[in-house]
Amino acid sequence: MAGKAEDMEKIKMTTPLVEMDGDEMTRILWKMIKEELLLPYIDLKTEYYDLGLEHRNETDDKVTMDSAQAAKKYGVAVKCATITPNAARMTEYNLKEMWKSPNGTIRAALDGTVFRAPIIVKGIEPCVKNWEKPITLARHAYGDVYKNTEIKVPGAGKAELVFTAADGTEIRETIHTFTGPGILQGIHNTDQSIASFARSCFNYALDTKQDLWFATKDTISKKYDHNFKDIFQEIFDAEYKERFEKAGIEYFYTLIDDAVARVMKAKGGFIWACKNYDGDVMSDMVSSAFGSLAMMTSVLVSPDGVYEYEAAHGTVQRHYYKHLKGEETSTNSVATIYAWTGALRKRGELDNNLALANFADRLERATVQTIESGKMTKDLALITSLKDVTVLNSEDFIKAIRETFDSLA
Ligand code: NAP
Ligand code: MG
Repeated sequence: MAGKAEDMEKIKMTTPLVEMDGDEMTRILWKMIKEELLLPYIDLKTEYYDLGLEHRNETDDKVTMDSAQAAKKYGVAVKCATITPNAARMTEYNLKEMWKSPNGTIRAALDGTVFRAPIIVKGIEPCVKNWEKPITLARHAYGDVYKNTEIKVPGAGKAELVFTAADGTEIRETIHTFTGPGILQGIHNTDQSIASFARSCFNYALDTKQDLWFATKDTISKKYDHNFKDIFQEIFDAEYKERFEKAGIEYFYTLIDDAVARVMKAKGGFIWACKNYDGDVMSDMVSSAFGSLAMMTSVLVSPDGVYEYEAAHGTVQRHYYKHLKGEETSTNSVATIYAWTGALRKRGELDNNLALANFADRLERATVQTIESGKMTKDLALITSLKDVTVLNSEDFIKAIRETFDSLA
């Protein structure tokens, strides 16, 4: 495959991608990417769901559930960033209800784990000099402190942890006997959610041929965190050990503090699975050390192998308001382009459609080369070590990628 769109026969698809359109600036980029970078080259087959806030509101958010079901049916989806409504959006969009986060709805429907990895280009160097390859962060997205119950203890008294089984029997432990005011917190997780998380991580490691690291604080939390460690190990031994050996990759468990120390000295090129809180904190550390949210890929993987690709950033509201006023924007479309390439490549792999998978590789190469040649959006121009850069507006950056794409053999 080489040359310009006009000279090429369009690539055919056998199975549709589930296309989830979104909001604001990313919705504008979505359309430009399709028109400039996809439709000229691919006979694009998608099942389209409009998750734009207006349409979610019109359908009482049914469209979000429908799109999640479609993702389950076809196995691969690509999602544009969407608004999660808050009080301000209630008035702005005259909403019937404060609809839930679409990402939350889809994640719950697919029971999935989110994997995030930086897109590495020359000229945008990570702050951690030895990070040569991406570090993919996998965050467990259920329970722990995110579903906690808290009490502000007013004064002296005894705090107990009580579990009442369905048959009425009790397990009771003393937490602490207070002699004065203090605080209390109850958290939980379920074996089922932890097992799904483990399987998503093992599958993704096999898929991307990368080692998997997992860490908790099991030496201190001898039941709670130890349960995470045990479930991972049991599933690994029973279902994945041989496949990992065949693929030449490794599952590595260590303590969370040891993991943090090792990550800082590592070269990258592995997946780091984290409990919910660790993942929240560490993903912000890893992504900011690598450069920017606009240069991160993000994919939701369900334990039974459904993939939903998206950008890690939001709808870039501030740029959208500029755009509405007719002002020029320089919004980085890389993460949204990679959402498409991720989905197209996966579709290509599942359908044995080599042309489609190669197209995705080539479009990613074109994107990286465009930036490395000094053509980039403003956010990258501010952090690059390259000299003589050209700052392009949103549309011209996408057009520059198309030019590079056409020039690639
Ligand atoms: P945001 O869209 O991530 O943008 C925050 C700021 O980060 C922007 O104002 C911009 O900085 C910079 N930025 C982010 N992406 C960029 C890009 N592609 N190119 C250039 N700069 C970029 O977060 P937000 O403005 O706080 O949230 C807007 C909406 O997005 C909210 O309604 C929220 O609910 C939603 N959201 C959706 C998702 C999702 O669907 N995955 C995730 C997060 C947030 P400057 O303004 O300094 O240029
Ligand atoms: Mg965070």
